[in-house]
Amino acid sequence: MFFVGGLQTRLPELDDWGRTPEASPRTLVLEAIRSRDALLVYGTNGALAGIGKLRMDLNTIIELSHEFGGTDYVKGGGGNTSAKDESVVWVKPSGTTLKGLTRDRLVGVSRPAVEKLFETETPRDGAAREEMVRDLMARAVVEGAGRPSVEAPLHHVFDATYVVHTHAILVNGMTCARNGAQACAELFPDALWAEYIDPGYTLCMEIRKRIDAYRAEHGRQPSSLILENHGIFVAADTAQEIREIYGKTLGRLKEVCTQAGCSAELSLGKAATSPQTEARIRECFGDDAAFLSSSGWFPCVAGPINPDQLLYTRASPFTDEISVENADRYRAERGYAPKVVVADDRVYGVGTSQKNADLALAMAQDAAQIAQLADAFGGIQFMSDRARDFIESWEVEHYREKVIGEN
Ligand SMILES: [Zn+2]
Repeated sequence: MFFVGGLQTRLPELDDWGRTPEASPRTLVLEAIRSRDALLVYGTNGALAGIGKLRMDLNTIIELSHEFGGTDYVKGGGGNTSAKDESVVWVKPSGTTLKGLTRDRLVGVSRPAVEKLFETETPRDGAAREEMVRDLMARAVVEGAGRPSVEAPLHHVFDATYVVHTHAILVNGMTCARNGAQACAELFPDALWAEYIDPGYTLCMEIRKRIDAYRAEHGRQPSSLILENHGIFVAADTAQEIREIYGKTLGRLKEVCTQAGCSAELSLGKAATSPQTEARIRECFGDDAAFLSSSGWFPCVAGPINPDQLLYTRASPFTDEISVENADRYRAERGYAPKVVVADDRVYGVGTSQKNADLALAMAQDAAQIAQLADAFGGIQFMSDRARDFIESWEVEHYREKVIGEN
């Protein structure tokens, strides 16, 4: 029902995008335009004839994004959220932070178009495949200007109105640990655990199969999906349920970690900043270290433990004595400059912008917190070299890195 000329009138059936289907009478409606949360209906005289409210209320997902966008849950542009109805899934665009998400930045993606992804034959080569998926996703956008998150097709797969995906420190203390799978099965029998799977297309295809299998076995979908060396997806029809599932999961993990004497609190060294050391880092790493961000010493994790950490801090910190020779060797061996430098009892995030330097330090601290918690589950487990290679050569993630750097 829409209000047309002050009267409540039934308009001809509109399709999901507000266009009048071929068969409908065109006498009353010339054109209907979807605009944010409203459907604007124009009469044949060109005047605005009515405004209809769309079914989906997107304020709730914005609230959830802010609520689960704090540093205990995500860093930088990590994590993503979505809301959906039968035809559209609205997702956080790539490169945007959960905390900074606003209604007008959400990207609406056609669900029937995403569904085509599952029927399409894809190239065997990883890079070609991700590019094809990216193009398909770009064409599926029906609202908004951003590029949908690479995890958007996965959001479509969950049969629930809201999905909130984070890299919560407490959860990753378990997912980045040697006994993570076993602990997850014992602590969260209602959750679906998945071993590390490359993000993007492979992850969404594989998880879709597993959710279907879970549904066939249990008669319902899992309350959460917990991914090794990655994070957690929580799916539910109401914001309240999302909060409850997160609350229970994090509460239980905190209990187990506390009992094991493991805490996420980092005790930072007291060494003061040193202008000489900062000058030396800049001298040895040049433009790559144009900006610095530092804190007192903490135990830096020696290898990558999840895709975000790899993306923002590189695989390993620079811990040698700072010299031009050692800096050149690091770059020659790895093909890139470090993003984290440990020197004189301080840890430095380095970057081409202040934001990137801050993020590198924040992610290095995040990894150290995760490593402390992982001791409750048998100790830290790094990503495999193969998994690392995939991320390092992945253009999609570079896109995010670029956007984060610019924002
Ligand atoms: Zn993620």
